[in-house]
Amino acid sequence: MSKEMQEISNPEEKDTKALFGMLPGELTELVAELGEKGYRATQIAEAIYRQRVTNVGAMTALSATFRQELGLRGFGVGMPEIVQTAKSVDGTERYLIRLADGETVETVWMPDGDGGERGDGSEASAEEEAAEGLEGNVSEFGSASKRDMRNVGALEQNGYRRATICISSQVGCAVNCQFCLTAKLGIKRNLTGGEIAGQVAAVLNRHGVKIGKDRINLVFMGMGEPFLNYVEFIRSVEILVKHIGIPESRMTVSTSGIEPAIRRFAEEPLRPKLALSLNASNDVVREQVMPITRKWKIGQLLDAVKTLPLGKREWVTFEYVLLGGVNDQPEHAREVLELLKGMKAKVNLIVWNPGPGIAYTQPKPADVVVFQKMLIEGGMPTYIRRPRGRDIYAACGQLKRTVDSPSAPVVGIAPAATPLS
Ligand code: SAH
Ligand code: SF4
Repeated sequence: MSKEMQEISNPEEKDTKALFGMLPGELTELVAELGEKGYRATQIAEAIYRQRVTNVGAMTALSATFRQELGLRGFGVGMPEIVQTAKSVDGTERYLIRLADGETVETVWMPDGDGGERGDGSEASAEEEAAEGLEGNVSEFGSASKRDMRNVGALEQNGYRRATICISSQVGCAVNCQFCLTAKLGIKRNLTGGEIAGQVAAVLNRHGVKIGKDRINLVFMGMGEPFLNYVEFIRSVEILVKHIGIPESRMTVSTSGIEPAIRRFAEEPLRPKLALSLNASNDVVREQVMPITRKWKIGQLLDAVKTLPLGKREWVTFEYVLLGGVNDQPEHAREVLELLKGMKAKVNLIVWNPGPGIAYTQPKPADVVVFQKMLIEGGMPTYIRRPRGRDIYAACGQLKRTVDSPSAPVVGIAPAATPLS
């Protein structure tokens, strides 16, 4: 274990059965089993999800005897814990989060949103952007920082903070995209819904976030493929929306393209926005960079995406990682336009973030500009996603548990931020 690891701060929480992650019906059953009145379930939910307490002793609405009883029966809150932190020069923080069984995942905090890419669906709605003076033209390559400055101004004026949290859904990933560092881990296990939502709670606590005041966006874009852990992903959405209090319109889930899961997702009553990692303009290139294309072709994925009942202000986002010389040429841009013709869509271009042992190169800046321009001129809203936290390996596709990756720089443990009063 790395020397930067903090000692677990909640020793009484070790080896307990987690309350965090239980839905109201399950809590009701639990309190009934323990011979308590039904309203105790609501009090537990309130304490773990709204107040975000981290141990049973802090659930002061419950009687001391009931708290003791929970402890004796082996129950604890079970919120995952931040055990290591790295902070980027751009304000992004990357956390190593430890789960009950000692496995770890990474979670990222990006203050002021993820900047410069309204197109990814994770940012504020169009009306809110307009109200904040952020509505504008599609960015030119490199102009994101200008918008960020306006964003900072808006934050100060309005007195609330805005941030995006990027969460993991699995320990590792089975999908094996050739450009992604997480793929190198292979798949260890699925996270539970409580572990997925728990990353958010731990990060909200660290920053003293007030739900309902501060603007928090969530992206399911960390380690793992959420649609290969579908049931627990949906459970986490329910906890996050109904109990922690983050609306689904502020959430975006990104998938590498699991066709049956996209169709199932289209029927969910509680549905975050969808981003599909397209990453290539035809099946031949996509198969090289994302071998999962052997199973589901681009056409099948697009047909599935078209079944989504989009809201008035909802677009599907297509992520497109630009790999130098592989998928970043004008003929590829033309193919992308052809593929997405007629769809209510946006494209997010992501300049490939390098990682050790991955044999791709970054695209030339001029090629990125041409690619974006061609898509925009073809009628497709297209944004260039500003890399966040590249210096600390927190950017897209760079998440790989630091304890296993000595090549990823660690900047030590930053002190917790002071909560806003
Ligand atoms: N597994 C899901 C979500 C996590 S990956 C998915 O693949 O969609 C989130 C995004 O990061 C995806 O769009 C993916 O294509 C992109 N990505 C992966 N590795 C990257 C890298 N090295 N540089 C830039 N983007 C990367
Ligand atoms: Fe998994 Fe997404 Fe990385 Fe592909 S890009 S290996 S699906 S995390």
